Amino acid sequence: MLTPVADGVFVHRSDLLRNNTVVVQGAEGVLLVDPGITGAEMQCLADDLRDLGLPVVAGFATHPDWDHVLWHPELGDAPRWATADAASFMRDLRSQPGWRDRVREALPPEIVDEVPVEPFGLLTALPADATHLPWDGPSVRVLAHPAHATGHAALLVEGCRVLIAGDMLSDVFVPMPDLEGAADPLADYLVGLDVLAGVADEVDVVIPGHGSPGDGTGLRERLTRDRAYIEALRGGGEFRDPRIDAPEPGWEWVGDLHAGQVEAYARRRAGEADAAG
Ligand SMILES: [Zn+2]
Repeated sequence: MLTPVADGVFVHRSDLLRNNTVVVQGAEGVLLVDPGITGAEMQCLADDLRDLGLPVVAGFATHPDWDHVLWHPELGDAPRWATADAASFMRDLRSQPGWRDRVREALPPEIVDEVPVEPFGLLTALPADATHLPWDGPSVRVLAHPAHATGHAALLVEGCRVLIAGDMLSDVFVPMPDLEGAADPLADYLVGLDVLAGVADEVDVVIPGHGSPGDGTGLRERLTRDRAYIEALRGGGEFRDPRIDAPEPGWEWVGDLHAGQVEAYARRRAGEADAAG
């Protein structure tokens, strides 16, 4: 089901991981951001769009994590844009022998048989100097930033004042810095939040990759809360965060994810101290 969140902007939401696919209406069809997770969900989305007579004319993947780079043949073969870093990450993965098996191993077992593997991660790099998505529709600004994953970008649908945040600013997930890949993941995360804060005055609706959309005030609250989380992780302070202390039913496991991050960061620090002798 497509739910309108702003003029010409819709959300298609999945129960699994509560992920939000965003649909932006253009002149001849739609832009599809992070198309979804299960085969049934993408089929439902394709059916909804066909009923509305709206072909997919462009796709966008906010970052190269598995739940943001899936695709379904029924959605057609429009270019699926991503930052150059995200596209090259996926190109590397797809060029390795046995990549299809590796993708299947990485997918949750409950969806592995229904998700088409062939179009997984087939992304087209945006030109290096692109500030906006090359498509025939409302102006969409690309906000590439470090924080959660290599090649991550949020999108700002300028006229509609909608911020599509990818895996940032969730009300159900705590911030997930790139603790494995980045040289300075927490500093990076704060830079990412600054990039998003920099457009806060231009936003009336924020749509996270997972969770509930928020308004402009909600955006500022999420920025503050996520900054506090990262500061606590960095300083070893106390976490006061509703996503850990009072998760929604079914989301208690975010507490484990959080505990894992605290451990992973402590291990990193210990490794850095050893290296420094
Ligand atoms: Zn992610």
